[in-house]
Amino acid sequence: MPSKPAAAAVRSSAVEDYLERILDLINTKGYARVADIAQGLKISQASVTNMVQRLDAEGLLKYEKYRGLVLTTAGETLARNIMRRHHLLTDFLRMLGVDESVIYRDVEGMEHHISPQTLHAIEALVEELKSQPNLLSRIRPHANGN
Ligand code: MN
Repeated sequence: MPSKPAAAAVRSSAVEDYLERILDLINTKGYARVADIAQGLKISQASVTNMVQRLDAEGLLKYEKYRGLVLTTAGETLARNIMRRHHLLTDFLRMLGVDESVIYRDVEGMEHHISPQTLHAIEALVEELKSQPNLLSRIRPHANGN
């Protein structure tokens, strides 16, 4: 049975978290193993194996039980976009003066729900705000509950 094209993959929060974690592991360790993914996402290895097989069937990665896994071109493109979105939202909240401990949690929630249109608008806003230190200095106190 031919696998479904990557475009048909369900872009659930879980799928996005997996792809983000896998790319992060590949970037930092050079490879991604089920055990590392399970540890990073705090999910059982059996669950990770199920999801990895699903992502393989969707054409986002290639999984070989004893050799680990690699992202396909489609999977890597999607993962890079997810990572880029995470970084942009992190930059935005950091610019507003939100505490580092809050930023990560907020971004992990926001990133799965934000539309490309809103993300583009925030990207433009971040660029504009870089040249607005006075405006930022009036905003930043509010990020600390003041
Ligand atoms: Mn993230």
